[in-house]
Amino acid sequence: MPGPIRNPAIQYTKLFINNEFVDSVSGKTFSTSNPVTEEKICDVAEGDKADVNKAVEAAKTAFKLGSPWRTMDASQRGRLLYKLADLVERDSNYLASLETLDSGKLFVDSADDMDIVVKCLRYYAGWADKISGKTIAADGPYFVYTRHEPVGVVGAITPWNFPLALLVLKVAPAVACGNVVIAKPAEQTPLTALYFGSLITEAGFPAGVVNIISGFGPTAGAAISQHMEINKVSFTGSTEVARLIQAAAAASNLKRLTLELGGKSPNIVLADSDLDYAVEYSHSALFFNQGQCCSAGSRTFVQDTIYDEFVKKSVERAQKRTVGDPFDDSVEQGPQIDQEQFDKILELIESGKKEGAKLECGGARHGSKGFFIQPTVFSGVKDGMRIAKEEIFGPVQQIIKFSDIDEVIERANNTAYGLAAAVFTKDIDKATTISHSLQAGTVWVNCYEAGAPQSPFGGFKMSGQGREWGEYGLLPYLEVKTVVTKIPLKNS
Ligand code: ADP
Repeated sequence: MPGPIRNPAIQYTKLFINNEFVDSVSGKTFSTSNPVTEEKICDVAEGDKADVNKAVEAAKTAFKLGSPWRTMDASQRGRLLYKLADLVERDSNYLASLETLDSGKLFVDSADDMDIVVKCLRYYAGWADKISGKTIAADGPYFVYTRHEPVGVVGAITPWNFPLALLVLKVAPAVACGNVVIAKPAEQTPLTALYFGSLITEAGFPAGVVNIISGFGPTAGAAISQHMEINKVSFTGSTEVARLIQAAAAASNLKRLTLELGGKSPNIVLADSDLDYAVEYSHSALFFNQGQCCSAGSRTFVQDTIYDEFVKKSVERAQKRTVGDPFDDSVEQGPQIDQEQFDKILELIESGKKEGAKLECGGARHGSKGFFIQPTVFSGVKDGMRIAKEEIFGPVQQIIKFSDIDEVIERANNTAYGLAAAVFTKDIDKATTISHSLQAGTVWVNCYEAGAPQSPFGGFKMSGQGREWGEYGLLPYLEVKTVVTKIPLKNS
């Protein structure tokens, strides 16, 4: 990559409906701002119910029987996705710069996100013509087969921590399966999604197949989840909003849901692990992306015999973490996304102090401008404390002591969440016992945050429903139809 563009030109700020950029029906706009300076970047069209309705009409037309989209060869759908991947790759330096400007993510992390976007598009492009049903040996004189058909109009509602990557993670499998999509990016980070709209047109997708509505959750997001003609919603975000979406689905048309939600993931470090390696991985498991990661290793369980040494080294590592301009490649940590998250994190840090955890380092704002928070480490954390139970979504590490494996498995599972987990050990038997005992959608052994795009990802318990990524990530976008045809005579 040539390197960051610090002031990327903003080219698209309107809603993307039917392959055109249009103002919102109300004419309203909202501003998106830079978390480094707290200043406005630009105004963006504010979509609401009327705009969602327009997008649904466009999507339904694109999905009509006999339409160019419905009659297109599956292999051609794959080719469009491959083309889209090439276009994102072509513009990845610009897109990564735009992502960093809008979200405060490190430029290197935004560049990784674009890499993931390209991989995700190519991975699902390859699936487009490999999705098939079965012939079934049913009883009686019948020819029975299944068709894996698209569910139809799909809503995608996404958060701000991996803005384009999480949106594409929904668009790519949905389109590979032949669906049509209405996507709503988070209000904090709409810019890369809108630019992506221009690439949809350039790649040659028929009008109405992918529509992108920038806007707020309680308005545009709610209009999607309440819509009677949206057949499915795929949502990534908070558990609280997932409850609203599930209630809206229940109250409207029982639309299918995929939910990828919060976590309080246990990261278990056994005494036999390579200490420096485990310290470094545990550090990045939590601090990556300013701690704004649903799968962050936010409960670091460390075995008692190495606990003090682990805490000492983790504090030294956190104190070395460089905080500042996300475009600067020597910086490891940028700002939090907005005032709301910033305030929430500082409030949880205060609760940790009040409830008796030991603040080893950090604990306050970094600098005087922008939503920067000092890398923070707590030791002496007890399971009942709020910082050990609630998702902080910030650069705050909780180091918790344990003695034996049965005990740590029980404590690790004692949470409403079940998104991810990790174990660091050199003992394969212990690694396997722990991996198979944890209630988590993903367990990493001697690593963290590895696996996409081929491996499924999603949550047990209140961390979600369904899976994204990999082959499993196709299933939520498909309806299985059984066709039973009476035949004159059946032979084996
Ligand atoms: P976070 O807490 O990470 O900001 P949210 O769950 O609040 O996550 O937001 C994730 C996405 O859900 C965003 O696109 C947001 O606009 C949307 N959203 C928020 N409230 C609602 C709602 N009531 N209905 C549908 N979508 C919503």
